[in-house]
Amino acid sequence: MRSVLPSNPDLRRLRDLARALQRDCRSGDPSSQNRILAVFPDADVAQVALSKALAVVARGHGYPSWPRLKAEVEARRSLSADRMARRRKIYEGKAKILYEGPEPGTLIQFFKDDTTAFDARKRAVLEGKGVINNRISEFVMRRLSSIGVQTHFIKRLNLSEQLIREVEIIPLEVVCRNIVAGSLSQRFGLPEGQTLPRPIVEFYLKDDKLHDPPVAEEHIAAFNWASTQEIDDIVALTRRINDDLRGVFGAVGITLVDFKLEFGRVREGEVSHVILADEISPDSCRLWDSRTNEKLDKDRFRRDLGDVVEGYAEVAHRLGIAL
Ligand code: ADP
Ligand code: MG
Repeated sequence: MRSVLPSNPDLRRLRDLARALQRDCRSGDPSSQNRILAVFPDADVAQVALSKALAVVARGHGYPSWPRLKAEVEARRSLSADRMARRRKIYEGKAKILYEGPEPGTLIQFFKDDTTAFDARKRAVLEGKGVINNRISEFVMRRLSSIGVQTHFIKRLNLSEQLIREVEIIPLEVVCRNIVAGSLSQRFGLPEGQTLPRPIVEFYLKDDKLHDPPVAEEHIAAFNWASTQEIDDIVALTRRINDDLRGVFGAVGITLVDFKLEFGRVREGEVSHVILADEISPDSCRLWDSRTNEKLDKDRFRRDLGDVVEGYAEVAHRLGIAL
């Protein structure tokens, strides 16, 4: 029985295969015993040693011995670690890192476990967050493509990274709200949880030093952050995304309270148009359990509610994402 070594082989998994072979052989499974006897005709199959099972697994993968297989796996691992270390970092933000992509016009977006709030005055590392956000953002971006919303998402590469289309980011945080929460509640003294008569789209300038101040369409056009056509497109896309995602989350018992989007320009010859960029995840959305109003998003971190990653994992689980 000959198996092919995967491109990123895992020694632990190969060792587990050998342990399973040893166990099955000892418990009398004829095909396991035959695999051992084919390499070690004199072996005592009832008490076969792990070293023999390891050697059989190595042979099965085309290597003369376990030490040779092990050396190959380790060499490949250091090669991919080297490739990872050498690729060019374009930008490191608070929650993600952007690396140069494999082709021009592409980037690799790495989702960090780091989290920040209140202008980065509050920070933490939440183990597992990056992996979950990578999966949730992939899920949402795919869904949006399926309804005809163009996004930067190309494909997920591994647990923490996705390949994206490089865009020229429009320096705006576009917020859409269905229910009063956060700064809207504070600025206008409205009770959190009040349903808005209609969804509201707001703009904030994406500038950490200025603390992301709210801006009007007039400022955006006057200062050339985006053209009036782009603003109209962004508003229309945001409303469409809101209509769809309310349904997607609603169907799994989650209320989409509000969310933040970022858009970017892509150029095709002389013309350019806007597409959805960045991420959509519990870092950028307020998501409440529809029955209990329990928060399943970054507010768990902002308000020290605990179980932050558990909240994110619950969102993934309800969306049917197997982690
Ligand atoms: P920040 O701390 O600036 O919010 P993040 O940690 O969120 O940064 O990292 C993501 C950065 O990458 C953001 O600045 C975002 O505007 C930018 N970005 C997101 N999608 C794209 C894209 N497709 N092309 C170029 N830049 C992008
Ligand atoms: Mg960001």
